[in-house]
Amino acid sequence: MVKLAAKKIGRNDPCHCGSGRKYKDCHLPAEAAVRSEQLRLRQAQDTLLPKIIEAAQSIPDEFPPAFDRFWNGKYEYGLEQLEKLNTVEDRGAERFLTWLAFDVCQADGRTLVDQLDDAVESGGFDVDPFERQLLTQWRQVRLRPYVVAEVRRGKGLSLRSLFDDAMYEVADYGASKRLSPGEVVVGHLTPADTAPGAAAPTYYLAGAAAQLTDDTAEKLLEFAELHLADMRRRAPDATWDDMVNERSEVLNHFVIALPQEQRDPTVMERIIADGRIGLQLTTESVAALLGRVLPSDEEESH
Ligand SMILES: [Zn+2]
Repeated sequence: MVKLAAKKIGRNDPCHCGSGRKYKDCHLPAEAAVRSEQLRLRQAQDTLLPKIIEAAQSIPDEFPPAFDRFWNGKYEYGLEQLEKLNTVEDRGAERFLTWLAFDVCQADGRTLVDQLDDAVESGGFDVDPFERQLLTQWRQVRLRPYVVAEVRRGKGLSLRSLFDDAMYEVADYGASKRLSPGEVVVGHLTPADTAPGAAAPTYYLAGAAAQLTDDTAEKLLEFAELHLADMRRRAPDATWDDMVNERSEVLNHFVIALPQEQRDPTVMERIIADGRIGLQLTTESVAALLGRVLPSDEEESH
C-alpha cells in the first residue's frame, strides 16, 4: 500500500520510507503527482457532465420520445414542461437529461456518452485528458438503484447496489448531508479518482438522483424483478446489466408513481400489481423465470 505522507513531514525532513534521504529528494514528487491527479479527476467530474448536457442540445429529435419513455406518459413533452419538472418532480429536468445522456441508445445503437467519447479523437468533442479518462469509464454507467448503507456527514457515504449488493464508496458532500441510512437512491454512479492504496475508485453521483424513503427498497427490487423476469421470457440468460441497458427508465416509473407527501405501502402494492398486469406475469411465472421457489410451494409440501 502506498501511504501518503502526513502533512507534518516537512520538505527537508527525512522521508517516511526510511531511505535516509530528504523527503523532497525522495517520495515527495511522486506523492504530489498522485494528489494532483486525484484533484484533477475530481475537478473533471464537475466539469464533464455540463459539457455532455450541452452536447445533448445537438440531438433535439431524441428529446420527445425519450421524454415519454422516462416519464411514462405522465407529462407532455415541451420545453416549458421541462423547466417545470425541476419543481413538480425533484430536479426532474436534470434527472431526465442525465438519463438521456447515459442511457438512451440512439439509432446507431450508441448512447450520447458513447458518441462523445468516440468523437474526441476527431476533435468533435473538446475535453481535457482527465475528462477524457472519465468519459471512457462513463460509457458503462446507467441509471441504477442503491440503498444508503452508511453516511459520513459532510464527507461521503457508502451505497449498496440493490441488484447485487456490491458496495460503492461515494465522495459526495451534498448527498452525505441529504441522505440517511436505509434510504434509496436511483441515480448514475460514476467512478472518478482512486485514492492511494484503495482497491476501488471513489464514486460520485452524476447529475441529479431521485431519493426515496427507506420503506421503498424491497418494493423497488420487486418491481424491477418483474422487468427482469419479462426479459427472461425472450432471453433466459438476461442479467441486471441487460435490464438497465434495455429499460432503465422503469426505475423512474416506480419513482414517479410513489406518493410525494407521505408513505403509503398500498401505493407500492398497486405499482407492483399494475406492473404484473402490464407485463402479463403471474407471481408463479415471475418466480419460475427468476429461478426461485415460492414460499407457498414449500408450505404446501408440509
Ligand atoms: Zn522515500
